[in-house]
Amino acid sequence: MELITKRVYGAEDILPADIHKWQFLEDIMRKQAQCYGFREIRTPVFEHTELFNRSVGDTTDIVQKEMYTFTTKGGDSLSLKPEGTAGAARAMLEHGLYNDGYPIKAYYLTACYRYEKKNYGRQREFHQFGMEIYGAASAYADAEVMCAAHSIFDRLGVQYVSLEINSIGCPKCRPQYTEARKDYFGQHEEELCDTCRSRLGRNPMRILDCKSPVCSKIAANAPKVLDFLCEDCHQHFEEVKSCLTAAHIRYKVNPAIVRGLDYYTRTVFEFVTPEIGTICGGGRYDGLIEELGGQPTPSLGFGMGMERLLLLLEKQKIEIPAPPVCDLFVIGLGENAKQKAFSIIEGVRNASLIAEGDIVGRTLKAQMKYANKIHARYCIVIGDSEIETNEAVLKNMETKEEKKVPLDDGFFNAFFTAYVESNQSQLLEQLNFMK
Ligand code: ATP
Ligand code: MG
Repeated sequence: MELITKRVYGAEDILPADIHKWQFLEDIMRKQAQCYGFREIRTPVFEHTELFNRSVGDTTDIVQKEMYTFTTKGGDSLSLKPEGTAGAARAMLEHGLYNDGYPIKAYYLTACYRYEKKNYGRQREFHQFGMEIYGAASAYADAEVMCAAHSIFDRLGVQYVSLEINSIGCPKCRPQYTEARKDYFGQHEEELCDTCRSRLGRNPMRILDCKSPVCSKIAANAPKVLDFLCEDCHQHFEEVKSCLTAAHIRYKVNPAIVRGLDYYTRTVFEFVTPEIGTICGGGRYDGLIEELGGQPTPSLGFGMGMERLLLLLEKQKIEIPAPPVCDLFVIGLGENAKQKAFSIIEGVRNASLIAEGDIVGRTLKAQMKYANKIHARYCIVIGDSEIETNEAVLKNMETKEEKKVPLDDGFFNAFFTAYVESNQSQLLEQLNFMK
């Protein structure tokens, strides 16, 4: 088959056979977000480029190298969202959500776009789950978002995910630190890559995030921001640590974490695994809302990579519950029987169970084979004689047990009774889970 085109490099299709894995993750994320008092926010996939220049920062790799930017027919510069925070923050401000009081707690599940080299756990279109809090300065808020992310890993049963935290200070303590950095990197100016050399004057902290081996090696010995924190930032960091301890969350202070976006202040953190590296990154961005034209609003959040989380589940052989199978397959032979079958199928579906019948014109044998292939739990065959006697045989495909059932309205009663009896333990399990 000669296709006229294939999917874009770095973008992946998520096919029906895999969707249950995504939905399983998303369900857990939504549930945990709800437990922590967050509601979903959905913002457009594109924004005015200016938004990302200002929030993510025009000295970052994301804005300098990775953004999908285009000019519309009307002459506007738009960009596909490379992350979820900027759009959420813009929407919060634009709709004046702060008028209802703080904190505002929102989560998102969104596709993100970055022009990066495709690699293990790295795509050009990828998906993030993220949580955002606006209007909370307390260290409990920092601990809350970290606990929320942690609770998702916990629910999924993933192991060896370690939380690494750092503080990168605030505008008050950063100038001294920036000077020390400039001095240090200035001594190594000749060795830095071109991008980092241009960052030296404007944003030397970004050099810490450079992936080039030479820059990373130089960065490893650079002055540590933790040694330059002002009293308030130091105090805040100490409080964050004690809140995490109170919640029994283990963490490690890693002075090398700076994050790849400009908007961070004070707390930054990553959840790291030996198999995949970083799967979740976040922190505080107390200056972001002001940068976007709002009032000073202490804010924070994180982004978690869905693809990387799925890779991790696969690596750790964590079982994802299989999607529900067909409860009843109804075979109708002959025009009258087909109509009867169709009305039974619809009735079962109306009771929120899964029912299917033939829609491609298969023979009886092929339909039986198909019912087996989709692991249908029950099957009935309706032919002329069943229509005549108004009775058919309901077959439990697993136990092979057979039971006569009426084909009038009594069918549903008979089917649901059989269904509940044979699924008692599973139904009870579902009830327990719902509790
Ligand atoms: P990295 O250092 O791996 O490039 P990052 O610091 O650029 O990550 P963030 O912007 O903090 O990543 O995004 C949060 C999470 O989103 C990452 O921890 C990762 O799980 C995921 N992520 C980021 N970029 C990609 C990508 N290109 N493909 C798949 N997932 C990604
Ligand atoms: Mg990156």
